[in-house]
Amino acid sequence: MTVVNPCVSCGACCAYFRVSFYWAESELGGGTVPDELTSQVNPYLSCMKGTESRNGCRCVSLSGDIGQAVACTMYEKRPSPCREFEYSGYLGIHNPDCDKARAHHGLAPLPVIHIAPAA
Ligand code: SF4
Ligand code: SF4
Repeated sequence: MTVVNPCVSCGACCAYFRVSFYWAESELGGGTVPDELTSQVNPYLSCMKGTESRNGCRCVSLSGDIGQAVACTMYEKRPSPCREFEYSGYLGIHNPDCDKARAHHGLAPLPVIHIAPAA
């Protein structure tokens, strides 16, 4: 059975939260995130450009239309918060922050199917 990742037709979290991370995840600090795609938050934290504030929040690396078809244009180089954020229902685990981001963009929460532990 092929499971389609719901994120490819969503993208809401990339245009709702400030996507911040330890500054050294950027190329300047030896990490992967291209420096020109980041903004400085404070001496320790950077964030993805475009997510500095809630107003008009949208990561510069998000392409496509939210709720239709989207892609991260730097997927292999994305920072840790993007790697750690799972869609609600992944492995049967509810992620209320996924619901929150989707609701902000007028999208219904994803169903969560609880997986019964093996007997
Ligand atoms: S809000 Fe949830 S479903 Fe949408 S892209 Fe983010 S993790 Fe995926
Ligand atoms: S870097 Fe990619 S996954 Fe992370 S917020 Fe931006 S578009 Fe989304």
